[in-house]
Amino acid sequence: MPGPKKILSPPNPEAERRLAYFTARSDQLISTIRDLVEIESPSDNKAAVDCVSAAVAKKFAVLGGRVKVHPAKDFGNHLQVDFAGKSAAKPVLLLGHYDTVYPLGTLATMPCRIANDKLTGPGVLDMKSGIALMLHSIAALKDWHGDLPHPVTVLLVSDEEVGSDSSRAVTEALAKKAVAVLVIEPSYGLEGAVKTARKGVGGYQVKVTGRASHAGLDFQKGVNAIVELARQIEKITAFTDLKKGLTVNVGIVTGGSRTNVVPAEAAAQVDVRIARLKDAAGIDKKMRTLRPFNRKCKLEVTGGINRPPMERTAGVAALYAKAVAIACDLGWKLGEAAVGGGSDGNFTAGLGIPTLDGLGGVGDGAHAEHEHILISQLPRRAALLAGLIEAAGM
Ligand SMILES: [Zn+2]
Repeated sequence: MPGPKKILSPPNPEAERRLAYFTARSDQLISTIRDLVEIESPSDNKAAVDCVSAAVAKKFAVLGGRVKVHPAKDFGNHLQVDFAGKSAAKPVLLLGHYDTVYPLGTLATMPCRIANDKLTGPGVLDMKSGIALMLHSIAALKDWHGDLPHPVTVLLVSDEEVGSDSSRAVTEALAKKAVAVLVIEPSYGLEGAVKTARKGVGGYQVKVTGRASHAGLDFQKGVNAIVELARQIEKITAFTDLKKGLTVNVGIVTGGSRTNVVPAEAAAQVDVRIARLKDAAGIDKKMRTLRPFNRKCKLEVTGGINRPPMERTAGVAALYAKAVAIACDLGWKLGEAAVGGGSDGNFTAGLGIPTLDGLGGVGDGAHAEHEHILISQLPRRAALLAGLIEAAGM
């Protein structure tokens, strides 16, 4: 079991004071996280997600935030909270989600538990601890300075784990008004690196229609959709270009009905990842212009690129540099990572708004049975976020 990382003693007295402030309030931070984890909120259950949304709204309202609910029909509501600041500058946007991948009832087998510096539970890392970090760093800034240095907008969405279709427009509208976007998704690795690049994500379905026949009596009248799909899969798989960070994965294949029937239908679901926005149009065109090898087959391709990549632009690098300086004052070296998975930070970065992701909890096992955060890392994550909320607006 990896133990908590040794924290160097902070050289900066103000940073030391902040770290001590959050260390003294660790129990309150843990209790906020538990409150949120213990309200289960699978993306596909509107009532459950609305329940956690209301609980979160109440906590932000106590801090003086102006709550605005963005109603969603098929998913939970999205929650916007605006905080005024001492200046009238553009707000810093804190971005995250309160939906999880765990079905209702998961708490029974995966309870919220503390042992050996680990806090375990469904969604504790991804990303209910991130929401708690937002709450406690805003509270601390108000405590220290009487008010926030500049306006802060919080946006928590209900459908991030299922593609953010219902929330994307809200996220993009708020990002356009913001000076910078801080995404409080889980950090990377047990050192807690932030994420300065994420791949863009696409999803396609390739459907083949052939003609069914009896494999014994009428073999030659049949047109085998599975054989056609197999050839397409070879072709699609070869679109992968590792040097460009472009990957194409055929993840699900379906087709056929019985061994003695020439199959009339087969389909594949394909995951596409791109590191650079300029590769999006090319791979999309390749997918859409697939043509059947066997002209007796019909080929249908649906889908597209869902999230643009978050590229490490100058704006992203500048935000990261600010975070590194804050972490350095707190006594540690903050790393950065480029990851293959997408988040809503992809949308905001795609608009050219400086975005820094992975500012949430440190832990392991997102979406898995052993999902947990490291409790000992919470104070410095809160201190980092508070410092960055201040610095990002300047
Ligand atoms: Zn997440």
